[in-house]
Amino acid sequence: MSGNNVRLQAIKDVEAYVPPAVSFDPGEEPGEIFGENVFSLTVMAKRLPKTVYKSVLATIEHSAPLDPVVADAVASAMKDWALEKGATHYAHVFYPLTGLTAEKHDSFLDPVGDGTAFASFSGKTLIQGEPDASSFPNGGLRNTFEARGYTGWDVMSPAYVLENPNGNTLCIPTVFVSMTGEALDHKTPLLRSQQSMAEHAERILKLFGHTPDRVVSFCGPEQEYFLVDSHFFLSRPDLLNAGRTLFGAKPPKGQEFDDHYFGAIPERVLGFMMDTERELFKLGIPAKTRHNEVAPGQFEIAPMFERANVASDHQQLLMTTFKTIAKKHGMECLFHEKPFEGVNGSGKHVNFSLGNSTEGNLLLPGDTPHDNAQFLVFCAAVIRSVHKYGGLLRASVASASNDHRLGANEAPPAIISIFLGEQLADVFDQIAKGGATRSKEKGSMLIGVDTLPVLPTDPGDRNRTSPFAFTGNRFEFRAPGSMQTVAGPMVTINTIMAEALDYIATNLEAAVAAGTDFDVAVQDILAEIIANHGAVVFNGNGYSEDWQIEAEARGLKNLRTTVDALPELIAPEAIELFSKYGVFNEREMHSRYEIGLEHYLLTVQVEANLTGEMGTTIVLPAAVRYQTELAQNVAALKAAGVEADLSALEAISVPITDLKAALTKLTEVTSVDHDEDPLVQATYVRDNVLPAMAEIRAAADILENMVADDLWPLPTYQEMLYIL
Ligand code: ADP
Ligand code: MG
Repeated sequence: MSGNNVRLQAIKDVEAYVPPAVSFDPGEEPGEIFGENVFSLTVMAKRLPKTVYKSVLATIEHSAPLDPVVADAVASAMKDWALEKGATHYAHVFYPLTGLTAEKHDSFLDPVGDGTAFASFSGKTLIQGEPDASSFPNGGLRNTFEARGYTGWDVMSPAYVLENPNGNTLCIPTVFVSMTGEALDHKTPLLRSQQSMAEHAERILKLFGHTPDRVVSFCGPEQEYFLVDSHFFLSRPDLLNAGRTLFGAKPPKGQEFDDHYFGAIPERVLGFMMDTERELFKLGIPAKTRHNEVAPGQFEIAPMFERANVASDHQQLLMTTFKTIAKKHGMECLFHEKPFEGVNGSGKHVNFSLGNSTEGNLLLPGDTPHDNAQFLVFCAAVIRSVHKYGGLLRASVASASNDHRLGANEAPPAIISIFLGEQLADVFDQIAKGGATRSKEKGSMLIGVDTLPVLPTDPGDRNRTSPFAFTGNRFEFRAPGSMQTVAGPMVTINTIMAEALDYIATNLEAAVAAGTDFDVAVQDILAEIIANHGAVVFNGNGYSEDWQIEAEARGLKNLRTTVDALPELIAPEAIELFSKYGVFNEREMHSRYEIGLEHYLLTVQVEANLTGEMGTTIVLPAAVRYQTELAQNVAALKAAGVEADLSALEAISVPITDLKAALTKLTEVTSVDHDEDPLVQATYVRDNVLPAMAEIRAAADILENMVADDLWPLPTYQEMLYIL
C-alpha cells in the first residue's frame, strides 16, 4: 500500500540528492563583476558622444524629457553593447498589477528582404513598446476594443543583460500605461509620487535657506524567504499551486528554541546564497547582508538602499533570480507571507528615507540646532502623514496572503502606528510643551536654539512590534508582505509625505510672509502637528491585547483583513489626495481597488478548491486506509479469540467523520451564488469559505498525528523545515 507513497519517496530522493558545487574563479573580486551586465552611467560615459551622455544624465537627474535624437544614439550604443554581451533579444520589462514581472521579448534581427537579416534597434523601439494589454489586470481601465498598452523606458532605471543558458536578453525597465495614459502598472505611479514628494520637500529645504538639488525617496527592502527541498515542494500540491501549506500539523520541535535565528547558515543554503549574490552583483544589485531568520528554513537578504524606483526594479529582479537559482540548487524559494501555519511568516520590510546630493539624508538628525529643526520638520511630516493616512498604508499591503501574517503575534499588527524611540518621542513631548509658552522651561525645548540629544543611528532596543519604526536615519515600514512589490507601499509613502510636506511648506511660507520669525514658525508647526497627530506615536508592545483597546480609544484604525482595508482606496479623502498630487486619478484608484478584490477572491478560490481536492483525494484516503487496517486488526484479534481493544479505531473515526462533514460544508459554502459586487463576494468568502477551510485543516491535522507514518502521504512540517 505504501509502495507509491509520494512522501516516503521524496524523503529517499532528498537523502540521495547531491547539491551542485559552486565554483568561482578564485581570483575573482566581487568588485570586478559588480554591474558587469548593466548599461550603467559609466558604460554610457564611455560609449556615448559627450553631448548625448550629458543629455541622458540631465534626464536622469532632473527628470528632463528625453530628446528623440538622443534616444537614437543611446539605442545604437546600447544595442552594440548588448550584442557584445551575447544578447540576441531585447525585452521591455514591466510590472503589471499582478504584482509579477512581465517581459515581451523581440529579436534584434530584422529581415532585410534579400533573405538576410540585420541587427537593428532604434530610439523609438528603446523608448516605446506595445505589448497587448488585454491579458493584464486593468480593473476596467481598458475597453476590450482597445487592448493596446504602451511601455515606455524609465530612463532612471538602467538597462541590463539577463543571462540564460539559452541566450541572453537586453532588458529595458519600463512603465506600462493604457492608450489614454492611465497607469496599468506599479512603476508609473511610483515615478509620479516621487516627483510630487520631491517638489514639496524642496520647498521646505528652500525655507531652510538651501538651494536644493532634486530630492528623491530611497528604499532599502529587507526580503525574508523560505527554502524548501524541491522533492518535498513537488509532493505538496498546496505549496505548488498556492505557495503555502493548506495542511500540516505543528512539528514537535518548533522555533521555540530560537536556535535558527542568526545561526550558522547550512552549507547547501550558503552555496545558494553565494550563487545568487554573484548573479545579483552582475546585475548591479547591491546585496549586502544575509542571515538565517527566526523560523527554521527561513532566511533574509537585505540589499543596500537605492532610489525607490530602482530599488523596486531590483527587488523584482532579485525575486526572479532567487526563484531560478534555488531550482538550480534543488530547492524552491517561497515568498509567500505564511507558507507554514504556526511558524513565523515572511515580510519585506521597507526602509524609507528621502534626501538629495546637497543636503544628504533628510531623516538624519543633524549636529546643529538649525539642522535639527529641519530633521524634526521631516519627522513631523512622517507623523502627520501616517496618522492621517494609516488606512491607506494598511491598504497598500493588503492581500489574501499577507492577511495570514498581519495581526498575528509575530508580525506587526494591522493597526498602523509609529515607533519613535524613547528619546525622539521625548523631544516631541518637549516641543508640545515648549511650543505653548515659547519659554525655555525645564523639560521644554526651543527649536533653532537647542540641540537634540544624540540619537543612536542604529538603536539596539529596536521595537520589532511596531509597523512603522524610526531606526535612527530612516523609517522602517514592517507591514509589507514578502511577496509584494515594494512599489505599492512606496507610492503611498511618497504621496502621503507629499501632502504633509505641502501642508508644512504652505504654513511656513505664510508665516514667514506675515513676518513671523522662522524659528518660531517652525516651533509652532511642530507643536501643532504633535498635538493633532501624536496619537499615532506608540512606543509600547504592538502585539499586546491592551494596544488593540488603546488604539481604538485613540481613534486609530484596525483594519484586520484585506476586505476591511481595500475600501480605503476609494474613500473620498483618498481619491482627493492621490488626484491632488497627480499620482492616481479617480478611475485609476477604482481600478486598483477592483484588482485588489479580484486578486483576493481568486486566491481564496484557488485555495478552497485545493483544500477540497487534497482533503478528498489525499488526506481522507490515507486516514481511511489506516482506519481499515485498524478494523482489520480488530477483526483478526476477534477471530483469534483475543479481546480486541477498540479505542484506536474509535479514536480515529472521530476526525474522519469531522473531515467528511467539513468537506461537505466547504462544497456547500463555495457553491452559493454570489452577488455581483466584488466587496460583498469578498466579505462572504472571508466569513464563510476561509473558516470552512480551517475546519477541514483542523480535522486533517489531527489525523496527521494519528495515522501510521508510512501511510501519511504529505511531507510533514518537520521534514520540510528541517531537512536542507
Ligand atoms: P535590520 O534587520 O536591523 O532592520 P538590516 O541590515 O537587515 O537591518 O536592513 C537594513 C536595511 O535598511 C537595508 O536594506 C539598508 O539598505 C536599509 N537602509 C539603511 N539606511 C537607509 C536609508 N537611509 N534609507 C533607506 N534604507 C536604508
Ligand atoms: Mg533585518
